Amino acid sequence: MAEVVDHPLSVLCLLRSLSAFCRLMTSSRMRPSRASTLALLLGVFPFTQVARSQSLSEPERRIVASVDAGHAGAVELLERLVNINSGTHNFAGVRAVADALAPGFQRLGFTTRWSDGASWNRAGHLIAERRGNGTGRKVLLIGHLDTVFEPDSPFQRFERVGADSARGPGIADMKGGNVVMLLALGALKDAGLLDQLQLSAVLTGDEEDSGRPIADARADLTRAADWADIALGFENGPEAPHVAVIARRGSTTWWLRTSGTPSHSSQVFRPEVGSGAIYEVARILSQFHDSLSTDPPLTFNPGVIVGGTTVTFDAVQNRGTAFGKTNVVAESAYVAGDLRALTPEQLARAKATMQRLAARHYPRTNAVLTIDDGYPPFAPTEGNRRLLALLDQGSRDAGLPPVGPVDPARAGAADISFVAGRVEAGLDGLGLKGRADHTVHETADLTMLAVQGKRAAILMARLAGGREQ
Ligand SMILES: [Zn+2]
Repeated sequence: MAEVVDHPLSVLCLLRSLSAFCRLMTSSRMRPSRASTLALLLGVFPFTQVARSQSLSEPERRIVASVDAGHAGAVELLERLVNINSGTHNFAGVRAVADALAPGFQRLGFTTRWSDGASWNRAGHLIAERRGNGTGRKVLLIGHLDTVFEPDSPFQRFERVGADSARGPGIADMKGGNVVMLLALGALKDAGLLDQLQLSAVLTGDEEDSGRPIADARADLTRAADWADIALGFENGPEAPHVAVIARRGSTTWWLRTSGTPSHSSQVFRPEVGSGAIYEVARILSQFHDSLSTDPPLTFNPGVIVGGTTVTFDAVQNRGTAFGKTNVVAESAYVAGDLRALTPEQLARAKATMQRLAARHYPRTNAVLTIDDGYPPFAPTEGNRRLLALLDQGSRDAGLPPVGPVDPARAGAADISFVAGRVEAGLDGLGLKGRADHTVHETADLTMLAVQGKRAAILMARLAGGREQ
């Protein structure tokens, strides 16, 4: 700043460029969406000062009208989807949800295909693609077909609760989000903007319990992310209605097995006997606790433990048995838990700490720590924040409430996590809002179908450049 003030010409240049920018921002021909996008991309003003408009462009008004007109049909489609059981392990049901959604994509000019999940032991994924005029921004849309409610769940049907909400398995997480996605795409078509984007939608069949190997189960998603510039996730997100997700912690599973030297308990601590497997596992967990509980929002939780003379553990069922005697030094112990980090750096730091602590041993014991990176962290990048600012501005321009970020401590892992680092920017939580997901009380606010549909469509219109038709 000092240099500028010292030099009159620089001041002039600064004033000129500012006034040119201001003219751009206020020009009646420079539509608000363009101006906002430009300001955001240039990073000139903080988001709160971005052109406080105002109104929607003509195509954006058509978007709003289209979403409103499509609302009743969207509720009907949602009811149909919710009434198809698609617990992750009900492969036929997951496929049936894909078959119910595919025609909606096809009517909008998408080509659809089914990616069979046999090689990762799940149903598979629905993939829908549309390249438009072949020059637009490349946007990846993420959904999922499965729910946590298997056919033996008592919770199977769509049920109205008052005029504006409905209860049902997966209604918010996330059959509602898939419907919001279609509603928004339909509105873009009606506004004549769909050709100005290149779109890939990947609706996975195993979000709630992903298949293994995870690299195979998410190959379609990561391939699409490598192609895309921007990723938009239509998960429901936390219960607050006017938030979106710019960061999600990852989810890593770990297993720790310790061993000791069996002996009569009266000999414990003697040099040739040592401490035993249970002391060793307790030492490691205690040191994990002290080292990993001070790096928020990292969380670290041992969920199940068995220890004694003979131990069994089924890592798939998360169930085990133990036999031991009070007068015998424990021979083995086993513990399984999770780890949730916000950034790849935080995850790497935590893993290095865990391996270092597990490698120290009490006398005559051993420990083997296995770490399985399930969902990587979806870190809060500048690009993600800009995308949220664009969504928020569009929402205000449409006369809807502002949209803020979710505290990542409240957002679990989701499929968008797999696109982290592969796209310029990503945003999740664009789906149907509700409450009590994953429980038999899962309820959605049906009025949010239109709100979220408008927000998503206006966001995509602005990403498309919003050219008038
Ligand atoms: Zn979900």
